[in-house]
Amino acid sequence: MMTNEREYSSDLEGTSFSNEQSDLVWDHEDVLDLDDFTVQEIETVIALAEQMREVLDRRIARAPALRGFTVINLFFEPSTRTRASFELAGKVLGADVISVSADNSSVVKGESLIDTVKTLSAMRADAIVMRHSMSGAPYLASTYTDAAIINAGDGSHAHPTQALLDIYTLKQRLGSLRGKKIVMVGDISHSRVARSGIWGFSAMGAEVVLCGPPTLLPAGLNDNVHVSRKSSNLPSVQVETDIDVALDNADVVMALRLQKERQQGGLLPSLREYSKLYQVTQERLSRAKQSHVLMHPGPKNEGIEIAGNVASGSNSTIEEQVTNGVAVRMALLYLLAGKGQVGAN
Ligand code: ASP
Ligand code: ASP
Repeated sequence: MMTNEREYSSDLEGTSFSNEQSDLVWDHEDVLDLDDFTVQEIETVIALAEQMREVLDRRIARAPALRGFTVINLFFEPSTRTRASFELAGKVLGADVISVSADNSSVVKGESLIDTVKTLSAMRADAIVMRHSMSGAPYLASTYTDAAIINAGDGSHAHPTQALLDIYTLKQRLGSLRGKKIVMVGDISHSRVARSGIWGFSAMGAEVVLCGPPTLLPAGLNDNVHVSRKSSNLPSVQVETDIDVALDNADVVMALRLQKERQQGGLLPSLREYSKLYQVTQERLSRAKQSHVLMHPGPKNEGIEIAGNVASGSNSTIEEQVTNGVAVRMALLYLLAGKGQVGAN
């Protein structure tokens, strides 16, 4: 890979990250989704993210281990949080970071996307962070460049960095995810966060429950509620349309944004009806464990999928998710730059 051929300076004070742990495993040139990550690889990212988090918490958060490394953010969909998070992650590590907003309408043809990626590659981008409204676009891009591709969200398919930051946040709070009941509530069928979360949380041993109205559950999952089964090529999950049943004894509750922009229409009677039946409220959360962790990937529609007092309540980990997102993205850039050198599985 092109990135491995360069030399990086990691000898500045406080900037060498430890790759000592013998169980560190990493064998990826791109980060496209978590379905091809082993548990050990997820653990590697989390272990490094912990070190990156320490850097972020310093008064001057700089550890220029990636000087000379170029990251290009290529966003074909609007984004504030994820884009800013990747920009910061690169900058804290001393990389050069450039953000390109591409107008989706001019890139509807596959060829334009390929051209753009080839051009950025010719400019010697080392990593391209890509968000696109078409599921699979980053996979296509990765076949046309030596740069590392990081999927920052493709259509309703995957958002692997979100799932990794959620796993990291949950490990901080709960220690381990093994045997924990994680309930994702809302618009599952349009949610790339849910899809990557299902892979990641299941790999870490959690019990995943999906909850939403039948019209917002992926086809193939909603025809047999209450039954755990393999479907849609996803790991085995439990599906529940009654939120009160779903939240019972939950360790983790993740509210998902109602993705109005991805709905073709006709899937919901009304927003009012939706929030009446599925909004994550304090009252409903009384069924979850008292110590439950409340998550939301952002951006939130308060008053629709989540009540305002819940989002800012003491069980909420929403702000931690945002900070941890920067740390996880730093860890991934570091590993993709060939800095991990932790050997193939
Ligand atoms: N979709 C939102 C955005 O891009 C939030 C996120 O991805 O973190 O701003
Ligand atoms: N930020 C997440 C995403 O880009 C969640 C959302 O937008 O609802 O998928």
